[in-house]
Amino acid sequence: MDEIDPEVTSPPAHMTPEEFRRHGREVIDWIADYWERIESLPVASAVQPGDIRALLPDSAPEQPEPFEHLLADLDRVVVPGVTHWQHPGWFAYFPANNSPPSVLADAVSSGLGLIGLLWSASPALTEIESHMLDWLVDLCALPEHWKTTSEGGGVLQGSASDATHVALVAARHRVSARSGQPAEQMVAYTSAQAHSSVEKGANIAGFGQVRLVEVDEHQAMRPDALAASVEADISAGLVPTFVGSTVGTTGTTAVDPVRAISAIAIEHSLWHHVDAAYAGTAMICPEFRHHNEGIELVDSYVFNPHKWMMVNFDCSAFYVADKAALTDALSIDPPYLRNTQSDAGNVIDYRNWQVPLGRRFRALKLWWVLRSYGAAGIRQMVRHHVAMAQEFAQRLNEDSRFEIVAPHPFSLVCFRVRAADASEEAAERADRATDALAAAVNDSSRAYLTPSKLDGRSIIRVAVGQSRTDRSQMDLLWKLISEAAV
Ligand SMILES: *Cc1c(COP(=O)(O)O)cnc(C)c1O
Repeated sequence: MDEIDPEVTSPPAHMTPEEFRRHGREVIDWIADYWERIESLPVASAVQPGDIRALLPDSAPEQPEPFEHLLADLDRVVVPGVTHWQHPGWFAYFPANNSPPSVLADAVSSGLGLIGLLWSASPALTEIESHMLDWLVDLCALPEHWKTTSEGGGVLQGSASDATHVALVAARHRVSARSGQPAEQMVAYTSAQAHSSVEKGANIAGFGQVRLVEVDEHQAMRPDALAASVEADISAGLVPTFVGSTVGTTGTTAVDPVRAISAIAIEHSLWHHVDAAYAGTAMICPEFRHHNEGIELVDSYVFNPHKWMMVNFDCSAFYVADKAALTDALSIDPPYLRNTQSDAGNVIDYRNWQVPLGRRFRALKLWWVLRSYGAAGIRQMVRHHVAMAQEFAQRLNEDSRFEIVAPHPFSLVCFRVRAADASEEAAERADRATDALAAAVNDSSRAYLTPSKLDGRSIIRVAVGQSRTDRSQMDLLWKLISEAAV
């Protein structure tokens, strides 16, 4: 055999453990400094398309660079192009609030570097995940039979969109296994106010039709419209297969009547999935649980601890009432993944609950957040945000220049500039004033909210939920709005 050049076969130069400790401390210091100064930064990045790429070299470095350069480029390259989701003046979209224990847990998860495709690929990853999802059943008063120890079960998905997608796949599989109907004949229903992920998931899953069911004056799905649509489709020879309800729509946090929709779903054997991506966290407080009324009748449910529970992205809690209905649709058993524990059916293999094979140790950050704050701390956060949102709504109500456009049962308030009269011209003037108001607040760089549309008219969404938001930011927001409105 030829002599092998030791230069070629030796490992590259890694950081020594001592260097890792030192740079690790520098990184934690950088994050802590960032959080300390975040309020002084403009909430939204003002860069133009291409500005950030222009700061990067054309090609990857051939030779190693010192870590100091990497850290320096966080401030030089990254921060100017960051829109600060963790800014206390964040009122845009929905929150994606994080917390120190969550960030530390994510670092540990990266350090462990696990891929939890099977129970045996890292038993702690799977068992802690199942246990956390069962804890959330108790904490949020979800049905007992959704526990992994029962016929149902929970899993962490990367996003609510992923969860809704696999719910659609399970629904399709259940119908085709029962009746042999092709997916092109199948119909999925959701409200006209549902998140776009329902339609997208149905398209990916190959459904023939997606029907956007009419909503009532509170933006909630009309069960009578759903029933009529299902019956028309049956008469036309199509196969109603799936209905997606929403508890807390993205547009206005409207709540669909889950129990009434369940009755229709049960009558026609539809898979009933509930998307509570944002509002699900509120169920940790008993006073919000009436919004989940009828939830024990549904087939699947998703909410995002990564939105409002101080667990940083990604962490989406997905439950099914019958875990076999999900794993029947998603299980494939290649020989290289066979093992005694899985074959004996003693364990959960989460690869059969999701699209990807690989999965991170996401449950660690959920575990650390639940232990660091306790259920009491999370309830306190939810109530604080909801109280501030309700106070904000009160200010709008007391000011004749504005009108609230939808019920605000959680911590999102949607409003617009009030039209002077009922004419179309006045409505258009109010639209322009509303758009201008949103732009003026966002241009201030001190608060960030989302201009949107409802029934074709301009509105502004104010979502209160950043972990650092306090009454001083609410006062500032009100001052910005009040001064910018004409
Ligand atoms: C945010 C949101 C989603 C999407 O969540 P991802 O986790 O980003 O996929 C879906 N549905 C509703 C109601 C939402 O508010």
